[in-house]
Amino acid sequence: MVTAYLQDTVLEKHERFNKEYKIVDMKTGQEKWVHGLGGLRFDENNNPIEMFGTIQDITDRKQAEAERGKLEAQLRQAQKMEAVGQLAGGVAHDFNNLLQVILGYGDLALDEAGSDSVAGASIKEMLRAGNRAKTLVRQLLAFSRRQVLDMKDIDLNKVILELTKMIRRVIGEHIDLNVITGHDLGTVHADPGQIEQILMNLCVNARDAMPEGGTITIETENVRIEENYCQTHAWAEAGRFVLLSVTDTGHGMDEMTLANVFEPFFTTKGVGEGTGLGLSTVYGLVKQHRGTVEVYSEVGKGTTFKIYLPLAERSAVTVGDKIEGPVPRGSETILLAEDDETVRNLAKSFLERSGYNVLAARNGEEALEVFKNHADEIDLALLDVMMPKLGGKAVLQRIRETRPDIRMIFASGYSMNAIHTNFILDEGLALIQKPYRRDVLLRKIREVLDGE
Ligand code: ADP
Ligand code: MG
Repeated sequence: MVTAYLQDTVLEKHERFNKEYKIVDMKTGQEKWVHGLGGLRFDENNNPIEMFGTIQDITDRKQAEAERGKLEAQLRQAQKMEAVGQLAGGVAHDFNNLLQVILGYGDLALDEAGSDSVAGASIKEMLRAGNRAKTLVRQLLAFSRRQVLDMKDIDLNKVILELTKMIRRVIGEHIDLNVITGHDLGTVHADPGQIEQILMNLCVNARDAMPEGGTITIETENVRIEENYCQTHAWAEAGRFVLLSVTDTGHGMDEMTLANVFEPFFTTKGVGEGTGLGLSTVYGLVKQHRGTVEVYSEVGKGTTFKIYLPLAERSAVTVGDKIEGPVPRGSETILLAEDDETVRNLAKSFLERSGYNVLAARNGEEALEVFKNHADEIDLALLDVMMPKLGGKAVLQRIRETRPDIRMIFASGYSMNAIHTNFILDEGLALIQKPYRRDVLLRKIREVLDGE
């Protein structure tokens, strides 16, 4: 492209060279954006003899622009959900009133006609349909956050354990259920009935994604989301949360499905099988609890839903607070492979600010390339488990051919006990869960570097 531009615009038309384009830095193998400005010098016959000018590295600006674009897209999505929610809520509200009238007169009519009469049989069918509509409306109201909540300070673990029997019954015997309750779990301010609804909806979806059987893992733990993480993830809010995750080993979702899962009436299931209201209900309920919901999924591998519920203020001071020293620094060289650009840049800045030298790669193949050029300098590799082109496991195997002793940390957005990370746990390798906090990452890195 640049060559054609040079030929047509500069050499033929004699215009100034003024273009932004990408180059590959031969030293690091990384792509860079540059802005080239230049002009031609001519001989007496007006033939170009040389070109002069400047080339400026504008990679940072381009990255910032890309990041801004991504944030804007996330914000737009949030605003759309907000608008759809308001619309759904408005419709549901009016519709609810209509249903009230329809069902009310239906009951009266049934009384008058007599339940055994011919007309009575018809009225009963109408009432049954009306009641189904009422359930739908209730779900829409939940999505638009107009449901009245009965908030209490609750122990999430208790709610989950009490519900397991019911979940087992719903998911069937071909699916294993794993419940891993976090220690010293913080108290959340929530409506236990709605939390059950959230869990149920997620488990039913997980079941539907595993017709051949599989595993559902429900987990709880305390987490903290940092301010700087929020700067690159529009959905995130800083603070301390209880994380409830539900992971399945089902068929997963493609990008199109992932982009739409929370929208009301979005379903990939057949008529009569799905309403498309399960996840929009979850979304609305979580928002109403001032929480956040995130989804990670990979086609053919499985899905994790992560629900962050804010800690109840009262107990926030006493729960889960560990007294820890200052965040450790280091000067080693770290190979960082991560395909999500915002996560990669964030991790890179965490590490560089703490003194480390970072070699970043955008996928597994690039990670190997970087490794090949710096095999002896790299002290530790921080690899994303799921990456395009070559996953973390494959990269690990290839790297080990040259450096069997290399220190490794794997990063995964999936739940710690899900199947995708089995090889990590089997080999006793270090795993860090995304989204990770800065101090958690830095401590983990020192732990692995300083370990035996
Ligand atoms: P429904 O289950 O009625 O289709 P939901 O709102 O519960 O509606 O889910 C919307 C869509 O999201 C589903 O149709 C399915 O395609 C996808 N989905 C939800 N959960 C999962 C999951 N655990 N695994 C794979 N796909 C899922
Ligand atoms: Mg569903």
